[in-house]
Amino acid sequence: ITLTNLSRVFRTQDVETTALSNINLTVKQGEFVAIMGPSGCGKSTLLSILGMLDSPTSGSFEFLDDDISIYSEVKLAELRKSSIGFVFQSFNLIDELTVFENVELPLQYLKISKIERKQRVEAILKRVAIDHRSDHLPQQLSGGQQQRVAVARALVSNPKIILADEPTGNLDSKNGDEVMTMLRELNREGTTIIMVTHSEKEGNYADRLVRLLDGQVMVDKASQVSMPKD
Ligand code: ADP
Ligand code: ADP
Repeated sequence: ITLTNLSRVFRTQDVETTALSNINLTVKQGEFVAIMGPSGCGKSTLLSILGMLDSPTSGSFEFLDDDISIYSEVKLAELRKSSIGFVFQSFNLIDELTVFENVELPLQYLKISKIERKQRVEAILKRVAIDHRSDHLPQQLSGGQQQRVAVARALVSNPKIILADEPTGNLDSKNGDEVMTMLRELNREGTTIIMVTHSEKEGNYADRLVRLLDGQVMVDKASQVSMPKD
């Protein structure tokens, strides 16, 4: 990912708000980047643009060597479904569907056959150690387990990148540590992760910290406490 002089300005009636101002940021395949900064600094806006849910007002967004800032919404939606896995603070699982069905959903959108869906969902549930809860409903699981299901759902389509928005915001510290350890493991296995967090401790699970202030990159550096990599 290469963002060059990227800005996002919101216009509502007479009011203009610059949410992002001349952002320059490169994320290489296999990196684990934490985005931090105070409320209102532009984290959500940046994550929405990276997740192809929103487009910049100016500047360019290169993804796998294509400038996608000029893509139509339809083309962006297609690219989003095949390239991005989302993990949210509030899990966003569908209450009426079982664990298996929740994780299967992205593969249905991608029109993957039933046989292949079954194989892939079973493999990924095993990977996040929640396969024994396959037929349960989300509400029958702990918060940490629900977030593991959400991570499985994000991963099942083999995305190029995982975007995580405060992934442990609704978890106690034990479950939070567990989810962070899992994300770090997935990163070690090659998954690119960009995560928004308020927590300095969580920032240290990442390799790199990007600090925003008033829509600008203030700091972009290796995370201070480098967590053991093996
Ligand atoms: P935003 O994405 O706009 O920062 P959130 O919904 O994430 O908004 O947070 C709402 C408020 O709660 C903000 O003021 C934020 O600073 C605070 N907050 C959210 N998560 C945490 C956290 N893990 N630790 C401390 N403060 C938090
Ligand atoms: P953060 O996630 O760091 O809390 P946001 O990206 O949500 O920050 O917001 C950055 C700035 O852009 C804030 O001043 C916010 O009020 C503004 N903003 C975000 N979304 C909109 C919108 N849809 N319309 C108008 N202003 C917005």
